[in-house]
Amino acid sequence: MRIGVDLGGTKIEAIALGDDGRELARRRVATPRHDYDATIGAIVSLVNGIEQDTGHEGSVGLGMPGALSPASGLVKNANSTWLIGRAIDQDLARALGRPVRCANDANCFALSEATDGAAAGARVVFGVIVGTGTGGGVVVDGRVLTGPNAIAGEWGHNPQPWPREDETPGPACYCGKAGCIEAFLSGPGLTRDYRDATGLELDASLVAERAERGEDTAIAAVARYEDRMARALAVVMNLLDPDVIVLGGGMSRATRLYEQVPRVWQAWAFSDRITTPLRPPLHGDSSGVRGAAWLWGKDGE
Ligand SMILES: [Zn+2]
Repeated sequence: MRIGVDLGGTKIEAIALGDDGRELARRRVATPRHDYDATIGAIVSLVNGIEQDTGHEGSVGLGMPGALSPASGLVKNANSTWLIGRAIDQDLARALGRPVRCANDANCFALSEATDGAAAGARVVFGVIVGTGTGGGVVVDGRVLTGPNAIAGEWGHNPQPWPREDETPGPACYCGKAGCIEAFLSGPGLTRDYRDATGLELDASLVAERAERGEDTAIAAVARYEDRMARALAVVMNLLDPDVIVLGGGMSRATRLYEQVPRVWQAWAFSDRITTPLRPPLHGDSSGVRGAAWLWGKDGE
């Protein structure tokens, strides 16, 4: 049995998967924010609870914001800042009495969809979470590609490619630079674009909804969003040429993206014809926690 834990900024979720990927149990608790020891304690009780529910012991994988730095072995780049500088894999392993694998949450998302989701059977998969932020992950032959700096797939902090005049220098990004892909393609990026055009501050999902209902200014904002996403993904294709691209996060619910973005990216990618499918996630919001469980392969590999 595989146990996956998704450590989010507001909740921690755990599931158990059978060998066939069937969900055997699920639990969640609120994240003890800004308290590292309590966070470790909450994860341990979730795992214990899952094992009581199922009557089995499992391997444990953890998906989290940020990544373990290969240089220091400590958490870096996490927006849940109380995790930064901690050896969370070792602390959890000690508390649980078994090895724990940790990965970035976008990598877990990509792994879930590549294993038995929207990209099942594909060799090279690029998974993107477009929500509060813009995380990306690469899976090759069923394994997460991490890289020596643990930043493979961190596409959101590249500059928006082929910027149009009004896109430079671009909005400030929390990473310290301006004009990052994330600053445009995250939910807050669409919110800001719509606000700049209308003076109205609306959640990105509401902007998408207004576009569906035919509001002209919302349609224009979503079309700019699609154009930016198409240019940003054309660069991914030029570098990696993945077999499938899967979207996750709040923006992945905007169904028109799957038709409109591939219509535009053709003009930017360096190829006579682009056949890459852009797909919605099969496991929806469960992909992060499922991917954490899949960090352990068959026979503990
Ligand atoms: Zn950035």
